[in-house]
Amino acid sequence: MVNNYYLLTDEEKDLQLMVRDFMNKEVKPVVAECDEKSEVPMEAVKKAIGMGLHCMNIPEEYGGMGLTARMMTVIREEFGKVDAGFSVTLGNNGLGSTPCMVFGTEEQKRKLADIVVPGGFSPFCLTESSSGSDAASLRTTAVRKGDEYVINGSKCFITNAELGGIYTVFAYTDKEKGTRGGMSCFLVERDRAGVSVGKHENKMGLRTNTTADVVFEDVVIPAANRIGEEGEGFRIAMKTLERSRPLGSSTAVGISQACIDICVDYAKQRIIFGKPMSAKQAIQFMIADMDIQTQAARQMCMYASTLIDQGIYDGRVGAAVKTFCSDTAMKVTTDAVQVLGGYGYSKEYPVEKMMRDAKLYQIFEGTNQIQRVVISGQLFK
Ligand SMILES: Cc1cc2nc3c(=O)[nH]c(=O)nc-3n(C[C@H](O)[C@H](O)[C@H](O)COP(=O)(O)OP(=O)(O)OC[C@H]3O[C@@H](n4cnc5c(N)ncnc54)[C@H](O)[C@@H]3O)c2cc1C
Repeated sequence: MVNNYYLLTDEEKDLQLMVRDFMNKEVKPVVAECDEKSEVPMEAVKKAIGMGLHCMNIPEEYGGMGLTARMMTVIREEFGKVDAGFSVTLGNNGLGSTPCMVFGTEEQKRKLADIVVPGGFSPFCLTESSSGSDAASLRTTAVRKGDEYVINGSKCFITNAELGGIYTVFAYTDKEKGTRGGMSCFLVERDRAGVSVGKHENKMGLRTNTTADVVFEDVVIPAANRIGEEGEGFRIAMKTLERSRPLGSSTAVGISQACIDICVDYAKQRIIFGKPMSAKQAIQFMIADMDIQTQAARQMCMYASTLIDQGIYDGRVGAAVKTFCSDTAMKVTTDAVQVLGGYGYSKEYPVEKMMRDAKLYQIFEGTNQIQRVVISGQLFK
């Protein structure tokens, strides 16, 4: 069978095999227990940090891996095949560091890299209780006082909040101006007075990754920690999400592929009405449909990341990739539970976890409704 990876370079294939091997050896054995306990598999995360998988997007000159978008796409699919939570822990470090690495000064890049490269995390802090899809409604403020800013506010649903070493924070410097010139972006080190981590989310899925509130109470930071110009924050946030959506989506492809593999094996060995279940055309077609959608989703990811590597950032493409891959993962995981019947609904097989994990991909980094707003906005511009 010709596999879907025929377009990969030798280097990309080597990375793929290395990460596949790592995930199967180090993460697979502990996933179910960590999911049950809602724990990050820290031993495996530390080993991944040792391999540089937490700083894939940071250029080599700052000590990171400096990987291409295609390489990160390949790696994150391999993560997703075993544990989407692991992918979010490692991969979303790129979301938090992108504003600085793309829009920051030389000094800011070194500051962030000095914390992240040795093993730190850089959570991306946009969402608040009053503002998710409607990011313009955020309430956090940054008030300029001489050469400093004082930050006050509370962020929620922040990935890796508890592991954070340096936070990328969006706050209003001039609420009156709104998103057009009123929001700014800042680096806030974890050890600054007034920074604390609040409520830990007890989530339905992605339980091997940590999500929590981050609170900023009269936090004083130097003005030199502002990324970009004052008022540029909203644009920086949107441009960051535009870059990250196609990369994160490949984890959803990994979830889908793992479900197909499990279903094929299961259907071959499960005997129903005296024959292997795989002899039933209804089952064959269900799994064939999973494969059609997953192949398409993978090609969309590779297309979008190839564009990114050529410096082309198309919000409409990123939104379409994100929507298609996550809707596919939701459909494929739901059908996988169906194919396995009662065993699919039981924790004896990982497909129920994959179904819970897949759901998040329709929600975070902009819900799929918001992606449709983005796409239609461009079509009707
Ligand atoms: C596990 C997890 C991790 C996360 N990690 C991060 C993180 O690291 N950093 C961060 O900043 N945020 C993070 N988020 C927040 C996430 O991005 C938001 O939850 C998401 O953007 C949706 O916002 P909301 O939850 O406030 O939902 P709401 O905005 O309240 O939306 C509720 C419903 O209304 C729909 N809706 C909203 N507006 C429209 C519209 N205009 N048209 C049609 N339908 C609409 C939505 O699609 C959704 O179905 C995370 C969330 C989760 C669950």
